[in-house]
Parts: sequence; C-alpha cells; structure tokens
Amino acid sequence: MIEAKKKFGQNFLQDTTVVSKIIQSMPRNERKLVEIGPGLGDLTQELLKVKALVAYEVDEDLCVYLRKKYSTKIDEGELTLVQTDVLKQFEKGSLCEEPYDLVANLPYYIATTIILEALEDPNCKSMTVMIQKEVAEKFAALPKTKEFTSLAILAQSIGTAAILFDVSPESFEPQPKVVSSILKIDKQKEFVEGKFSGLFESNEQLQKFKKYLRCSFQSPRKTWLKNISSEFDKAYVEKIMYDQSLPITIRPHEISVLSHHLLFKTLRLNDARKRSN
Ligand code: SAM
Repeated sequence: MIEAKKKFGQNFLQDTTVVSKIIQSMPRNERKLVEIGPGLGDLTQELLKVKALVAYEVDEDLCVYLRKKYSTKIDEGELTLVQTDVLKQFEKGSLCEEPYDLVANLPYYIATTIILEALEDPNCKSMTVMIQKEVAEKFAALPKTKEFTSLAILAQSIGTAAILFDVSPESFEPQPKVVSSILKIDKQKEFVEGKFSGLFESNEQLQKFKKYLRCSFQSPRKTWLKNISSEFDKAYVEKIMYDQSLPITIRPHEISVLSHHLLFKTLRLNDARKRSN
C-alpha cells in the first residue's frame, strides 16, 4: 500500500468515468505522448491503450511500484519512465526530442509553472491537463472578466485555451480541498520547425512580450495607461491609445489579446520613447 505524499501534490484519480473522459478529449495523431506524474498509473494504463508514452515521475517509491506494474510495457518500449523533477527536464530544453502532446493530472503546487514551461517548449503541441479549476479559469479567461490577466493573454497568444469539464474532489484519493478542471490548450500559433510563427517572431520577442505584460498588469485595478507610463512617456502612450481608438481609462483586463499585441509592437518600435528613470 502506497501512502499519498502531500509534498508531491499526490491526489490519485480514482474515478474511471473521469479517466475515460480525459482519454476521449486527448488528441488523436501520430505525435509522441508525454505524461507528467503518472502516480499509481491509473491514467497511464488507459493512455497506453492509445499509444506509447514517456512519463516523468519525481517520487522514487512510485517509480519502483510503476516499474513492477508495467515491467512488460517498459521492456516492450511502450512506456519510458523517467524518475526526475519534471522542471529539471524543462530546464534541459524539452520533455521530448520530437513534437509531443502532454496529457496529465498535474501536481497542483507546480501546475502553473509546468503549463508556462510547456507553452514555451517548442516541441509541446498541445496540453490536456487536470488542474485546480481556479487556475484553469485564469488560462481560459475571456477579456473584460477579472480573471483575464497575463496567464490568459500568454496562453491565448500561443494557442487556444478552453476548459472541457470540471471534476469534483470525490473523484480523488485523498480528496483535494478544491474543484478541478480539465484544461485544453492547442498551440495553433506556435513554433514551426524551430521558428516562431503567428504572434511571435522569435523567442526574444516572446520574452519581451512577457515583460510588457508584467508592466501592463503591475496594478491590475489601475488603468493600462497608468501602468505602462511607469516605462513609457505618458503623452506618447496617450497618442498611441488615441490612434488605436482605446479610451485612456481602459484597464489592462479590458484590452483584447490582439490589441495587447498591437500596443506591444507599437511601443517596441519606439523604444526610444522609454522613460529614463
Ligand atoms: N496521474 C496520477 C493520477 O491521475 O492519479 C497522479 C496525479 S497526482 C495529482 C500528481 C503526480 O505528480 C504525483 O504522482 C506526484 O508524485 C507527481 N509529481 C509531483 N511533483 C512532480 C515533479 N516535480 N516532477 C514530476 N512528477 C511530479
């Protein structure tokens, strides 16, 4: 009997209906499959019926258990189990050398970090992940809602983000204190053959856009003009807003993804108008 470890965010999915719904929602294609945190392997078992996969698990006890449970699948090359902290693998570059889809019931304590890493991993093409509902709402939020912040803008600059369905705490053992959701992110405007496409031309541009978002949302309840004026000359920003038909009272969450990109590009072209403070 393996005891769940709180420090690794272990809430094991016990509900076979939810497992089936995740399997139905995952992409069907020729790409590789990656799972983060296979745990006791209940989701892994169903994923293996679809195709071979690489799974990253940090917990040594669980790896010992999984190696026994799936020894045949491992010997046949169907399952590659890697015992490591997945964040260390992201630091090395990618979770897979080839394009892949990520399917996982993520450890909630690092779910946001994992999604942000996977968004920037050029080989990751889609994510079907179970996370805390409140966090899923931040990635899938629509403009003008209070949840629409940097996370939604970044995810929706790289792909499409949608909540597929919610999962109640009773579906897990031990039960988490929160409701969970399945979040699906399909990267439609991502890297192609190692290059960026769509809204970002390069990794450098993506990093600058993240900086722009940090500045735009530094005080989310203040106007965008007030926030961005900490970096740029206020009269100049007012002119850009006038040119783009944006009211000077607009708040950062009220600006659409595309308008944020237009503002970012216009400001970038005029870096010289940056404040010198
Ligand atoms: N997939 C299983 C399921 O659905 O029942 C377990 C999901 S549980 C919420 C999260 C899993 O992620 C656990 O197995 C945990 O040990 C693993 N995990 C936690 N932190 C990790 C990390 N940094 N790298 C890799 N796996 C991690």
